[in-house]
Amino acid sequence: MSAAPSIGKKTVRDVEVAGKRVLLRADLNVPLADGAVADDTRIRESLPTMRYLLDHGALPVVCSHLGRPKGRDESLSLAPVAGRLGNLLDREVLFAGDCVGAPAEEAIRAAAPGQTVLLENLRFHPGEEANDPAFARALASLADLYVDDAFGAAHRAHASTEGVTHYLPAVAGFLMEKEVRYLQTLVTDPPRPFAAVIGGAKVSTKIAAIEHLLPKLDLLLLGGGMANTFLVATGVDVRMSLVEREQVDVARRILDRARGRVDVLLPVDVVSADRFAADASTETTPVTAVPPGYMILDIGPTTVAAYTRALQRAQAVVWNGPMGVFELEPFAAGSAGIARAIAALDATTVVGGGETAQVVASLGLAPRLTHVSTGGGASLEMLEGRQLPGVAALMDA
Ligand code: ADP
Ligand code: MG
Repeated sequence: MSAAPSIGKKTVRDVEVAGKRVLLRADLNVPLADGAVADDTRIRESLPTMRYLLDHGALPVVCSHLGRPKGRDESLSLAPVAGRLGNLLDREVLFAGDCVGAPAEEAIRAAAPGQTVLLENLRFHPGEEANDPAFARALASLADLYVDDAFGAAHRAHASTEGVTHYLPAVAGFLMEKEVRYLQTLVTDPPRPFAAVIGGAKVSTKIAAIEHLLPKLDLLLLGGGMANTFLVATGVDVRMSLVEREQVDVARRILDRARGRVDVLLPVDVVSADRFAADASTETTPVTAVPPGYMILDIGPTTVAAYTRALQRAQAVVWNGPMGVFELEPFAAGSAGIARAIAALDATTVVGGGETAQVVASLGLAPRLTHVSTGGGASLEMLEGRQLPGVAALMDA
């Protein structure tokens, strides 16, 4: 990608942080298993901003949500994250048993230089998701400055992502900056030829992104359950496959708009099954020969080869949505093949989407891509060309 374009927002680099209490909204929404952190990717992605704040003499007061608690729920406490965060930072992390009020104030008062405070799960308070001004003010009162590094939550106008910016100077952290920069560049000024690989279960969740990307695209490769609706639009009998009938006209319109400008590739062969199960009977056939009663659950090897070949000429690729039901082993090869093809390219390669990121991570390919977004919903909204409320609320550069 060309030399780092500005995201148009002030970042932590643009403000004085020394001696300040900094409310740092991070995305520490990590999977837990038996009360321990099962995957610390999101914690690691949050470290550069925390280290910067510590190195520049600030007190990071870190806040995040975890899961979807309805009120206080000890099984969704951020306490296990405090331990892991301390190990990764190699610094002491003080955990505050509530994100506002006396427990938070006392932890902040007790913190010595070089220490970090982690506040308890924001969503223990309904005011967080309701973006309640009183709750936002209570959060803001803990600090002198607000830094938002929670890209994964930036598509939600919650108290900790939007509300607090009414009461504190608000700037972006490094992860936020990186995420917005990569995705914004792709949707506004991508290196060309520019290819999008779009899959996933349902076409209805991807239409807005496809429509927004289409004018910039040179190549559109479709897979996953959503491709079935496009196949139906071209007259293919997909048998028992997942199809959104009410979207067939939309798919046809997209194909019409693309004609002559964007190469659209649809699966030419598929893996289909008699049941949605790992031990189902499966057939690999041309897309026009899916057996009666079968449903398409992955793209086939000829399609993987054709998509791999088509991607060779791309200078930029964005991938959102798996090519098949990768969670079940017999239907994982299509997504794995496309992941390997993208990872092998000498191009700007960006992955957005929660499940797509899982595919890439499980194959160990994340380091070979330009950027794997930490925000599923937020990255999709950026591909749709939408302004994220958590980004819009930050101070303009
Ligand atoms: P992401 O989270 O990367 O944005 P989506 O949520 O859009 O991706 O879609 C992921 C889901 O799509 C996966 O759970 C996968 O099993 C499902 N999927 C992919 N292909 C098919 C298919 N042919 N039929 C049904 N579901 C599919
Ligand atoms: Mg998903």
